[in-house]
Amino acid sequence: MSDAADVIVIGAGLAGISCARLLAQAGTSAVLLDKGRGLGGRMATRRVTLDAGEVTFDHGAQYLPATDGDFAQVLRAAGAQGWHSDTARVGAPRMSSLPRALAAGLDITQQVEITGLVQDAGLWHLTSPTAALRARRVVLTIPAPQARALLGDAQPWAAGLSQVRMAPCLTLMAAFPPDSPRPFRHRRDPDHPLAWIAQDSSKPGRRAAAVTWVAQAGPDFSTLHLEQTPEDIAARMLPMLCDAIGVEPETAVYARAHRWRHAQTARPLGVPFLHNADRSLFLGGDWCLGARAEHAWQSGNAIARDILGPAHAG
Ligand SMILES: Cc1cc2nc3c(=O)[nH]c(=O)nc-3n(C[C@H](O)[C@H](O)[C@H](O)COP(=O)(O)OP(=O)(O)OC[C@H]3O[C@@H](n4cnc5c(N)ncnc54)[C@H](O)[C@@H]3O)c2cc1C
Repeated sequence: MSDAADVIVIGAGLAGISCARLLAQAGTSAVLLDKGRGLGGRMATRRVTLDAGEVTFDHGAQYLPATDGDFAQVLRAAGAQGWHSDTARVGAPRMSSLPRALAAGLDITQQVEITGLVQDAGLWHLTSPTAALRARRVVLTIPAPQARALLGDAQPWAAGLSQVRMAPCLTLMAAFPPDSPRPFRHRRDPDHPLAWIAQDSSKPGRRAAAVTWVAQAGPDFSTLHLEQTPEDIAARMLPMLCDAIGVEPETAVYARAHRWRHAQTARPLGVPFLHNADRSLFLGGDWCLGARAEHAWQSGNAIARDILGPAHAG
């Protein structure tokens, strides 16, 4: 990519996908970059091969309540299905199926981590260990603390970014033999260290090679143990999960922990996005509006509408 792109969107989570999609629909070319190997950011699925076959764990976003009618329609069109209620939508056969469907046809480059971003002579120069890129406009849809680290504190928007709070979440993925107890499909208990427990294999379209569970620790537990190794975290969380679902820890055929450092927004910015003076740099993501995937989608859409101008407002 030697010529400057019209728009580069950094971050192929829901915010970046929603922005690039609306731009593409309006005929504005946008390149979507992500440092990861998969699409969807925190709307993530881990695939694991066990002796009994492949299983998956939705270890990020659990289900998608859509209060916004447009978002609900987008999810339906992307193949989302109801799980424990019609309004609790999930991707099928896995959560990551949704971002994959929503990003179909977009110009996407994966495994490119942007490590520097400088404006010079009317262009943005992006650096990464693997490429040097240029764009007339950049849309940055990464978690607020990462955006702040990338851009530095000397920028006008640093004060806005520093208002945002994102809480960590330690997540346990565990699998048990197919005949293991399945006492509930999900349980939410903010007073328990495992604030959320979901029987992941009860979601529609999952394979039945094992009974799989995803347990997410609450913010206090997650903050306290964030710097422990994933192995230590799994060893701490597995007995609590087993106690809750009535199985012996020794029967687990798989148990791993994932550390989400910036999992969910605890204090949002309160506006859909930030931009610089000449509207050539936009910052967005769920953290602008709230803690849910829907907020990421709305933020990305709002940025695209701003770039496209008054004909697309509203
Ligand atoms: C454990 C957990 C549970 C959740 N549960 C729910 C739920 O049940 N319901 C719900 O609606 N929401 C839930 N959420 C929140 C939801 O996942 C997020 O709101 C949404 O996915 C955020 O999308 P985003 O595009 O703003 O950011 P992200 O999904 O974080 O996307 C940002 C992308 O930027 C990429 N990136 C970061 N830095 C760089 C860089 N320097 N260069 C290139 N790429 C970069 C990342 O790889 C990532 O793909 C949950 C989140 C977590 C972590």
